[in-house]
Amino acid sequence: MSQLVRSWVQGANSADNAFPLNNLPCGVFSHGEEEPRCGVAIGGSILDLQALEREGMIDFGGAFDTPTWNQFMALGRTEWAELRATLTTMLKEGSVDQAKVEAFLVPLQNADLHLPIDVAEYTDFYAGMQHAKNMGAILRGSPDLPANWLHIPIGYNGRASSVVVSGTDIHRPNGQSKTPDAEMPSFGPSKRLDIELEMGAIVGTSSDFGSPITVEEADKMIFGYVLLNDWSARDIQGWEYQPLGPFQGKAFGTSISPWIVTAAALEPFRTATPAREKKLLPYLDSSIDGLFDISLEVSMQPQGADSATVLSRTNYSRMYYSAAEQLCHHAIGGCGMNTGDLLGSGTISGPNKTEYGSLLELSWAGREPFTLDTGETRSFIEDNDTLTLRGAAQGDGYQIGFGECTGTILPAIKFPA
Ligand code: CA
Repeated sequence: MSQLVRSWVQGANSADNAFPLNNLPCGVFSHGEEEPRCGVAIGGSILDLQALEREGMIDFGGAFDTPTWNQFMALGRTEWAELRATLTTMLKEGSVDQAKVEAFLVPLQNADLHLPIDVAEYTDFYAGMQHAKNMGAILRGSPDLPANWLHIPIGYNGRASSVVVSGTDIHRPNGQSKTPDAEMPSFGPSKRLDIELEMGAIVGTSSDFGSPITVEEADKMIFGYVLLNDWSARDIQGWEYQPLGPFQGKAFGTSISPWIVTAAALEPFRTATPAREKKLLPYLDSSIDGLFDISLEVSMQPQGADSATVLSRTNYSRMYYSAAEQLCHHAIGGCGMNTGDLLGSGTISGPNKTEYGSLLELSWAGREPFTLDTGETRSFIEDNDTLTLRGAAQGDGYQIGFGECTGTILPAIKFPA
């Protein structure tokens, strides 16, 4: 297991700090009325990369004169490694640059965090086996996987416009739903509002239209990972999804955490995908360790509660397909992939009930409501509930933290007004 790289920045070396020097996650921040700009988190601070580049202390061709990471990501892996190595030298204990670099540190506290990338397109997968089995058991009465599941990382094309940064409030969506015994569908606020605990992979370098890529190439295209909450309106989804899949039940909001944890920072935490229950076709059958050992948790806090109740704890290594396999499959027919594409992993559920990644599973579709620390019960999200995802990879005396991905559900917008 890799060791902590000690930094002179305050707070960076404590074991419970999310952002040690080994991490250097990439975000976009501002204070007050300032223009948003790129920075990396370190300890209790953010290093302002726009200022650092303007001062000539780093040079990536002006990539940090834009308020997103897209331009830098498009430069490619050599530049990614160069930035990481340069910042590590500047920020480590004993650095000769300390006095110069200190001037470009700003407090993380009270910074406004923005979407770290201009999301090019958003695709969501369904690659967690326990989740797929639970969904089958709940919705179809059988945990059998769909016939294609062990052969294809199943996915659908979502909407980039629906992706928002952690902390963004989301209105309960209105939409069509129909209960089995009703003659007609009805329109109104979703009554079965849910989360999906996922990881998001961010494509850093593009692939050309018409050019398939291998799993190994796909793995090298991924710049980093975020926490992702694929908010889901189960009643809307249940009525609309046959035969073409999710649409309005998913399009009202997808939250991501503000810090991109780079693939380089996660390298010591790689894990293999699980044993294959059926041999994958050769184009998907790679030997690379494409998953990561990242502990994840979901909590819920009703309005007015003093604290949040942890509902579930699981791990990204539970997935069946890696992001690299999903990206390879995405491009195999010739679909071009772009800098800034976001790939949702699919809901991450472990084998036990305490490890489920959605409320639908935790409450077994409302048949087994769960109790919060306040004594209230829930099956789905009620208005003004706040849902928060957290995640971290645990090293020896340090962690690679993702920060949090949080959102509060506001009442539905009255429509027509
Ligand atoms: Ca999903």
